[in-house]
This record gives sequence, structure tokens and C-alpha cells, in this order.
Amino acid sequence: MFTDKMILRIPGPTPIPPRVQQAMNQPMIGHRSGQFSSLFARTAERLKTYFGTKQDVYILAGSGTSALEMSVVNTLQPNDEAAVLVSGAFGERFAKICERFGIVVHRLDVPWGEAVTPDILTDFLREKPRVKAVFATYCETSTGVLNPIRELAQVVRETSDALFIVDAVSCLGAVACEMDDWGIDILVTGSQKAFMLPTGLAFIAASERAWKVIEEQKPLAFYLDLKAYRKSLAEKTTPYTPAVSLIFGLEEVCNMLEEEGLPQIIRRHELMRDMTRAGMRALNIPLMTADAYASPTVTSLDPKGAFDAEELRKVLRTKFNLVIAGGQQHLKGKIFRIGHMGYCEPLDVIQIISAIEMALHQIGVGVELGAGVKAAQEVLVSHV
Ligand SMILES: *Cc1c(COP(=O)(O)O)cnc(C)c1O
Repeated sequence: MFTDKMILRIPGPTPIPPRVQQAMNQPMIGHRSGQFSSLFARTAERLKTYFGTKQDVYILAGSGTSALEMSVVNTLQPNDEAAVLVSGAFGERFAKICERFGIVVHRLDVPWGEAVTPDILTDFLREKPRVKAVFATYCETSTGVLNPIRELAQVVRETSDALFIVDAVSCLGAVACEMDDWGIDILVTGSQKAFMLPTGLAFIAASERAWKVIEEQKPLAFYLDLKAYRKSLAEKTTPYTPAVSLIFGLEEVCNMLEEEGLPQIIRRHELMRDMTRAGMRALNIPLMTADAYASPTVTSLDPKGAFDAEELRKVLRTKFNLVIAGGQQHLKGKIFRIGHMGYCEPLDVIQIISAIEMALHQIGVGVELGAGVKAAQEVLVSHV
């Protein structure tokens, strides 16, 4: 098999488009040069569309978690109270970060595979009047749930004065997001999911309300001091050495996203979600999430013991050169997850489903070859 044809269908890192790869190969330039400053400033400006904000978007060198941590250390102090909505592994991460800094965490747990609904949140927040920030996950990558962030933001606005802080690492750039209109106070994402880049950049924006809180605080960290990034961006630069090559790549990503246009990008991801779900349903593999909360970027399947998810993944990887993800934490070994975001298009979904059918056949699961492909094709032809 061709190692450079490995088909990566995990929910991040995602495949890098050749144009982006090429852009990242440009010779290094000085990070304090005029050339870099103008590249950096215009690229940061172009990210605003995907955040749905007029506020500045800050770019830092770090994985997505660095921006999660940044949102905590700039807004809260030890013994402050925060609410964390936990619908899977990434909600857990927000809770852990808060706890590490001595913040009093009130967890709102929902079963993995389900979404946090506005009703549950309303009841929860009414009993927590001292909460200063509410942390939520837009796409919960560990389960494939897209939480109803717009409605949750409205609940936070109506029931408290808390800041609403959202992790959109595995969906921003692929789904609708209107940070300003919906009332999100801090929105964070990363480079290696729908933004089609390697890991290494994190993006963060804050509302005017959030900035009032941030300005009054001494941050609980040094590298992640948001005020330092704001001061530097005003001078078209970063406080510390930026990941120059990734910024080269980011500019090409912005070109690609603008060529396709956000409305079409959103439709493409919804179509890939619908094709994946139709295909898996036709193969009688249970979906982990209800249609209403299914993420357009990642789909989780729970075979419920009908076959070994790890065996399926192994056959896909070794016989078909196709990589999908397993489960995290207590779902490890039990479920599998298909990433369909970023540099992925509807025809790629046909390939994924076809390979899954063949791999299931290989491991002795009674599937009708072509049944899932047919169902996905039917969804696709009704859209073109
Ligand atoms: C990938 C991901 C992150 C960031 O993880 P890193 O490994 O730090 O890049 C955070 N939240 C969600 C929902 C994710 O999917």
C-alpha cells in the first residue's frame, strides 16, 4: 500500500490539502519582519467570519487545549465558582483545567451521547447564583454530539451574569457560529480539525463583556496572558515567537474557505453527516447520537457487542489503509468514530462506508455489501 495514500478519517488531526502543505514549505522569514506582520494581521482578520464576531481573533502557538486553558486563567481566580457542562471527554477537560486552578466547579453531567438541553441548563443555573462562568463544548468530539450552543447561550444570558465560554475546537469552520449575535463571551478553536492544518495553532476571541472581566484580573498563567496577545496584535504581532509556517498554511486555508464560501462549507458537512448516518443505518450499526444533535463533523457508532470495534479498526487500517478513531475513556474499545471534516468531501464518505462494509465482511459480520453505500448514494444524489 502507498503510505502517502493513508486515508485519515479521525476527528483530528485531519488531512492537509496539498495547497496548504505547499504554502507551509515556504522558506522561513523573520517573525518581527514587516512581511510577517502584514501576513499575520490579515490572516487574523479573516478568521472573524468563522467565529461570527467583530472582535479580534488571537492566534497562539499551542494545541487546542492551550486556548481552553487560556479561557480559564484570564477570567477566573481560585475559589471562584464556575459551571461546566459535561457531555463527554472534552467537557471533562474543562472541568479538570478549572479544578487545577482551584476554581469551584459545578458539573452538569449528561449521559455520553446526549446533548445538554436548554431546559436542563435553566434548572441547573437557577440554583447556582454565584457562578461567574459557564463552560460548554460545541461539538463533543468523544460522542459526536453537537450541543445546541445558540439556545444554551440564550439560557445563560437570561438566567445569570456569568460569562459563556465555548470550546468549538472540533467544529468551527464547518458549522454555523455567530459569537456576537448568540452571546458567546469566549470562543476557542484549534488548527487541526476543520481548519485543515497540522496541530499547533489555537484561536481565541473574547466579547466586550469578557474583556471587562479580563482587564480586571491578574491572569493565573504567563504564556496564556490574553492581554499580552491583545497588546501585540494591535502592533500586528505576537508576544512570543509565532508558528510562522503554520501561519503561511493558515493563509492558504483562508483562501480555500473563501473560495468555497461558508454557507456551502456548512452544507457540505451536513451532507457528509447525513450520508454517513444513512450508510450506518442501512448496515444496522447503531448511531450513538439522535439526529437532532448529530454533529456534521464526527459520527460515533456503538456496535453494542455485535462485533469488536477494535477489530474493525484494525482491518480498516491494515487492509484498506483507512484510519478511523476508537472511543475515549470508558468507551475505549467499545465504539468507533468517523471524522468527516475539513479536507473531506461527499465522495470520500462513499469510500469510508464502502471500506467499512468490506472490513465488516472480513471479520465475519453478516453485511450485505453495497447496502450502506447505496443508502449514502441516495442521500448524495438527492442533493446534487
Ligand atoms: C481536539 C479537541 C480539543 C483540543 O485538543 P488538543 O489535543 O489540545 O488539540 C479540545 N476540544 C475538543 C472538543 C476537541 O475535539
